[in-house]
Amino acid sequence: MRPPQLVDSFSIWLETRQGKCLVAGPCSVESEEQVIHTAVALAQHHVTLLRGGIWKPRTRPGAFEGVGAIGLPWLKSAGEVSGLPVTTEVATPAHVELCLKAGIDALWVGARTTVNPIMVQEIANSLAGVDIPVLVKNPINPDVDLWLGAIERLRGKGVQRIVAVHRGFSTHTRRKYRNPPLWDIPSKLRQQMPDLPMICDPSHICGTRRFIAAVSQDAMDLGFDGLMIESHWSPETALTDAKQQLTPVQYGRLIRELIFRQETQGPTSEMELRNLSREIEEIEGELSVLLTKRQQVSRALERYLNRQSSLTRTWARICASRCNGNEHKPEEEEESDEQHCEACLSSSEDRQQMIEM
Ligand code: PEP
Ligand code: MN
Repeated sequence: MRPPQLVDSFSIWLETRQGKCLVAGPCSVESEEQVIHTAVALAQHHVTLLRGGIWKPRTRPGAFEGVGAIGLPWLKSAGEVSGLPVTTEVATPAHVELCLKAGIDALWVGARTTVNPIMVQEIANSLAGVDIPVLVKNPINPDVDLWLGAIERLRGKGVQRIVAVHRGFSTHTRRKYRNPPLWDIPSKLRQQMPDLPMICDPSHICGTRRFIAAVSQDAMDLGFDGLMIESHWSPETALTDAKQQLTPVQYGRLIRELIFRQETQGPTSEMELRNLSREIEEIEGELSVLLTKRQQVSRALERYLNRQSSLTRTWARICASRCNGNEHKPEEEEESDEQHCEACLSSSEDRQQMIEM
């Protein structure tokens, strides 16, 4: 039986914002069989909207970049077979046009697009006068204004039904999460746009299956309006994000085990308190990563300086033997290469000796 907090219809949920919206499906649409198989299995476990990436923004060229427009009818028929509305990522006006033609029910703007106001504006322009829901992921960097700006650009062109998706923020250090959640950023968005539905994408936050249940529960406790979770019928063979996708069965277990708290317990102050304690946890994690990094860099610096000083001593020794009878005293001038006489530089064996030190 469907828990009362989960809703059947995406459009009713958008209208009422009652209950939780669950977006699930593969990271990428890979074949018709894969997306249908996954969708049918997922539909048994409470799903509001079926997702599947058609065009994949990959960091490096040469990786699987999505099946492209050929996959749109596959996604659509997976939706029909499973009885679910479908959504995919758009990154250009051409993608929007193809999706509208294929009857895709909702679009989503990915993190690498939200970061680019020109692209967002182009997408917004292509949606003028079109009544389709749009999910907007946060930008990859923790800048709430970019996220707000993307939503404003879409609203400015008349897009009414918008859902924010919190998928965490990129980091250059190795941490527990692939994209740390930095919960205060979605909280700021909520303060600015309290009526905007906001769901959480634990799959892209975690980057690994291991923490998805815990982050999903965090998101529910923090009053998010739903989740977006990647699920693939065979995650180990997935062409993208293999480590973070759940099987439909694992997805079902996760949803069954989620605790939906009463929203009447003062979500704002509770959210604030949880945000602050999570922030402290994250800062502590960052501090320990940074301290370890500092230690490694200072060891490397020490090794470099030791090498340099032995190089300088060798240089001074060679100069001393070359300058024989010359005026300057290399031992007193170790710091400056320029002060050695030309004669010191004459022997290529000497230079080689320096390089090999
Ligand atoms: C995705 O949802 O598969 C994806 C690429 O997401 P993001 O834009 O959050 O990286
Ligand atoms: Mn993905």
